[in-house]
Amino acid sequence: MTNPLYDELFGKHAGQSTPFLILPDGTVWTHNAFLAKAAQYAHVLKAMGLQTGDRVAVQVEKSPDALALYAACVQAGLVFLPLNTAYTVDELSYFIDNSGARAVICDPAQRDGLAPVVASSGAVLETLDAAGCGTLVGKASHQPDIFDTAARVEDDLAAFLYTSGTTGRSKGAMLTQANLLSNARTLAERWHFTDKDVLLHALPIFHTHGLFVGTNITLIAGGAMIFVSKFNVEDMIALMPQATSMMGVPTFYTRLMSDERFTKDLTAHMRLFISGSAPLLAETHAQFEARTGHRILERYGMTETNMNTSNPYDGERRAGTVGFPLPGVELKITDPETGETLPKDTVGQIEVRGPNVFKGYWQMPEKTAAELREDGFFITGDLGLIDDRGYVHIVGRNKDLIISGGYNIYPKEIELVLDAQPGVLESAVIGVPHADFGETVVGVVVPESGETPDLDAIACAATTSLARFKHPRKLVCLDALPRNAMGKVQKNILRDQYKDLFVPA
Ligand code: ATP
Ligand code: MG
Repeated sequence: MTNPLYDELFGKHAGQSTPFLILPDGTVWTHNAFLAKAAQYAHVLKAMGLQTGDRVAVQVEKSPDALALYAACVQAGLVFLPLNTAYTVDELSYFIDNSGARAVICDPAQRDGLAPVVASSGAVLETLDAAGCGTLVGKASHQPDIFDTAARVEDDLAAFLYTSGTTGRSKGAMLTQANLLSNARTLAERWHFTDKDVLLHALPIFHTHGLFVGTNITLIAGGAMIFVSKFNVEDMIALMPQATSMMGVPTFYTRLMSDERFTKDLTAHMRLFISGSAPLLAETHAQFEARTGHRILERYGMTETNMNTSNPYDGERRAGTVGFPLPGVELKITDPETGETLPKDTVGQIEVRGPNVFKGYWQMPEKTAAELREDGFFITGDLGLIDDRGYVHIVGRNKDLIISGGYNIYPKEIELVLDAQPGVLESAVIGVPHADFGETVVGVVVPESGETPDLDAIACAATTSLARFKHPRKLVCLDALPRNAMGKVQKNILRDQYKDLFVPA
């Protein structure tokens, strides 16, 4: 009996006393200790009456125990369903109902609030408390550390992950063992991960980036992770000397660079810095290189497909691009109207096909049929192009495309102009309803310091660099852009905020 994902990621480390998780306080979990804990949890989950293929919703703060639940689900043949720890009870009730989870595991603080929601959904509620007083830990401590791994095949579901909800309500993506395995294998190989690697891991584990990219490649290579529960500059700087590599969202890098202790010396021994989940500005790229001598490697992926592309490990890492399609992944740019493949350097919708592509959205057959074509290509919802050297550029999201007076306007092009203006830290360009043009352009700028930048000068710069139909009709200032847990700008919130600017209520 085999369980390919368990065998290749976890089971092969049985008996190894090498470090797997290193905590900021110096505590080390060996591979073996981690597996023993996972086996205990697998017992408990089975003892709760869960059947192979049942979904287990997990909303617990990042910890070795929380990660052990992932391994436990894989081992017991259950479908792991991690939920964003920032969700409120109201938000959680949607996910619990929508997912049809049979069990919900939460932190003690959430238990009372969640109990009625879980009871009405018919699921079982258990508490995980790594400090030892939660019911799950209590039960698990009496279990033997041997568990008969459930037989699974690569086509079986392994995880159920909700998208980040950047463009609307989160969708449940069904991921198979094959999806996760194919990505773990290719990324570990592409990024040269080995058992000597120590990955500085400060990402959440309810998202594909921290869970599958970070954890799975470390496991497949047999390396270790320094497990920081939540990104903070202090821990990153203190722990970097022990690491060989780091993975993060662009804001991790900008925050690190804002601290003068983050120097070339501190990073001299590091072999790799990876960025993804949101666009890395060319400026951040350049500043990071000037500061440390390292070139960040940017990659592109999403909940539904894990990773699609990566800049090369050895070749040129091109700023403003997400590199080349990974081995086994086909990526094409198509015309949204006709579905035809577009030539090089032409913006269109990004479609991907490969072993990394999910099985579909949970309980959304129409959406699945519309976006996951019969020929296996998934319409990602992103717009981009492939340049003459084969590098993929992300231009933005289809939903963020502004159509004004019949013109297609890509916000990123305008954002690059606004970002370059004195006093502007960053910007977001959105389309808002306009009686004549359908939509018109609004630029939201965040000042570098507390002072409002000269909006007239910025408007003037935009008019000289951009065609008339792209000029922002209005510029507004905000202290910060709304972002979700992965640092993605939530343009739907901005669109809602400014929807009445040109259309009287
Ligand atoms: P939802 O689908 O619910 O609106 P989401 O698309 O933000 O949310 P995720 O699956 O977490 O949910 O994010 C994937 C998206 O993140 C991609 O479709 C792309 O728009 C963006 N993304 C990921 N990596 C990059 C990158 N390197 N550069 C630009 N955008 C990126
Ligand atoms: Mg998406």
